[in-house]
Amino acid sequence: MSAESPRFRVSLIIVVYMLVVHALAASAFVLPWPPHALPVALTLYVAMGLGTTVGLHRLICHRAFECPRWVEYGLVTVAMLTGQGSPLLWAATHRIHHAKADTEGDVHSPERGLWYAHMGWILNEASTDDDAWRTWCKDLAGDRYYHWLLRFRLGPQVIAVLVLGLTLGWRTLPAYFFLPMVSWMQSTYAVNSVCHARAFGTRVHDTRDHSRNVWWVSVLALGEGWHNNHHAFPASARHGWVWWQVDVGWTFIRCLRAVGLARQVHLPTPNLR
Ligand SMILES: [Zn+2]
Ligand SMILES: [Zn+2]
Repeated sequence: MSAESPRFRVSLIIVVYMLVVHALAASAFVLPWPPHALPVALTLYVAMGLGTTVGLHRLICHRAFECPRWVEYGLVTVAMLTGQGSPLLWAATHRIHHAKADTEGDVHSPERGLWYAHMGWILNEASTDDDAWRTWCKDLAGDRYYHWLLRFRLGPQVIAVLVLGLTLGWRTLPAYFFLPMVSWMQSTYAVNSVCHARAFGTRVHDTRDHSRNVWWVSVLALGEGWHNNHHAFPASARHGWVWWQVDVGWTFIRCLRAVGLARQVHLPTPNLR
């Protein structure tokens, strides 16, 4: 895959955005470390991660459980702090991935190179169709909030930056916000690249794709690294199926269920696909 290929059109806006947020995250290591930076950054990393793996992925892409609408919107809004498009685009891209994993139509398969699967496809404006949600997300198409997030996909991120900057100071933003944000983005990208690459992890289930279980991606991505389990049973709310398969996302869903905020929680069975 090369930049000259007709199927790779570099999106300058996204390239600039990526350079800016990664530079701001890196600047955290140069600027004076603000008070309690590590626990603040770690808390925000986990919050953004749970918003993504539990809200965007397990809930709205796969409907692995049901919850009150305010819980769904809360999780998805926190996920949007990581600048990963809008819920409609995210869900459409992900559902296409499951339908065509590691074949010609897969948006981010390592069959096109590990770097392409990791970040290249995001920089390629030809990789995704902005209207794909009309076909792949009919269940979400009537949601006015998700349509607002389609128009103003950076809205939650801009609001968070303004609130944090005005209350805690602009110089705290690299450590408090951009470092956990970019770290989480990279963890998410690793699920698409590492967890479909033959060089990593193991396969337990004979799925028709190349998905892998990779323990260290699961630690970083709060359970998402048990990706071969996930492709075997996409509708399962639980990705780590045995006690040693750490799955923080599943622990959070169990907490939601314990306080009555999650119900109809789907678990792997031979028929759950
Ligand atoms: Zn996959
Ligand atoms: Zn999935």
